[in-house]
Amino acid sequence: MHNSQEAAMVIVGAGHVGGRTAQHLREAGWTGEIVLIGAEPALPYERPPLSKGVLTGAQTLAQTAILTPEACDAARITHWTGTVSAIHPMARQVSLSDGRSLAYRALLLATGGHARALSIPGADHPAVQALRTQTDAVALAPRLRPGAHVVLVGGGFIGLEVAASALAMGCRVTLLEGAPRLMGRAVPASVAERVLALHRRHGVDVRLGVVPRAFEAQGDGLTVHLTAGEPLQADAVVVGIGIEPATELARAAGLRTDRGIVVDRRLATSAAGVYAAGDVAEFPSPLSGLPIRQETWHNAETQARVAALNMLGGDETHASTAWFWSDQFDWQLQVSGEPALGVTTVQRPLADADAELNLYLDADGRIVGVSGCGPTSAVAKELKLARTLVERGVRSNAQTLADPAVKLKSLLSA
Ligand SMILES: Cc1cc2nc3c(=O)[nH]c(=O)nc-3n(C[C@H](O)[C@H](O)[C@H](O)COP(=O)(O)OP(=O)(O)OC[C@H]3O[C@@H](n4cnc5c(N)ncnc54)[C@H](O)[C@@H]3O)c2cc1C
Repeated sequence: MHNSQEAAMVIVGAGHVGGRTAQHLREAGWTGEIVLIGAEPALPYERPPLSKGVLTGAQTLAQTAILTPEACDAARITHWTGTVSAIHPMARQVSLSDGRSLAYRALLLATGGHARALSIPGADHPAVQALRTQTDAVALAPRLRPGAHVVLVGGGFIGLEVAASALAMGCRVTLLEGAPRLMGRAVPASVAERVLALHRRHGVDVRLGVVPRAFEAQGDGLTVHLTAGEPLQADAVVVGIGIEPATELARAAGLRTDRGIVVDRRLATSAAGVYAAGDVAEFPSPLSGLPIRQETWHNAETQARVAALNMLGGDETHASTAWFWSDQFDWQLQVSGEPALGVTTVQRPLADADAELNLYLDADGRIVGVSGCGPTSAVAKELKLARTLVERGVRSNAQTLADPAVKLKSLLSA
């Protein structure tokens, strides 16, 4: 598969997708060079623990590793720390900002996204930060001291997870969300209501319809001026208002971009030999064919494999069902498939009154999405079954799905 003249498989972005793609390339039989170029100093690691176990001390950074130095050596994966400043699809080369350049046989853009920043006065205060990288988590963890007041900006998954972690560390927590509800449109309003009640029950001061106006340095901490209500004194502020997909290299090179780098079912971009995967890629939905982008662990895992096989000349389709989870306190929240494609929503009764499970049917009665939340012990099994129903494209109807006497498992074998 390789001769010494052959250019390398090059991956830009040594994050989740980058690390997993490098592994898959080797496992799939590529014997030539694999060069993984990443702007972060660390080898690829998983990000989900950064807002959960890494902040509470339940997980070490070492436990989040996707590739260790030993694994890189064993698989002969070359890791370059550096920032790619341009890609040249005609010449099949990448350039780095430190002057290095490299020829590629196939190129993967796995550049993820940049945490969105607030553009208000004082947002550059050192105690105001995002949470995207290990470096961010290492900066935040020591600020979560018992009694410290932590202010979270943004009521999305990251803000909510950090709220739960900060509370577990004995902090006082205020969460500001500009919208009238939590988690935007990622989950139905009923799920958002339950999660709001959960956080308030645990003592998080959740304020909806309120955003910070300015931050002002105050001793070791800062004052947070709000659009409504008295200013808050904070020891730490975490801004979790989403990411911007890192499309800049693709855009500058003239590749097709829209809400991400546009790829086809094979994760191929508009330039020959260039692929994109993970948070940065906008791909055709396996369910509807419409362009979607996913910012999830599962998407990173599954697209890495498809990208690797296609970089080697394969014809793999990214066909995996979307799946996302979030852990908050002793609850789990999950979304699988694409609830937005449903025309009928069925709420399935669960034994635990706090828990909720919704199934979404399209016009043909196909289960196209699931969303749910509740104490992990009470919902995990049903959510897994429901997700499998989506994966298998099972058809059903509202009456059956809403009947607690009908076991979801029975629909799988039907
Ligand atoms: C705190 C946190 C918690 C999360 N929790 C969950 C969860 O509970 N469940 C879930 O499903 N998902 C979760 N996610 C999402 C999941 O981690 C991401 O979807 C996944 O990391 C995406 O992988 P990626 O490889 O596309 O991007 P990333 O992992 O972000 O990797 C991109 C890498 O590319 C590098 N890069 C960018 N541009 C360049 C360049 N020009 N040159 C060199 N390098 C470059 C970046 O520095 C970065 O290291 C969480 C994410 C975060 C941040």
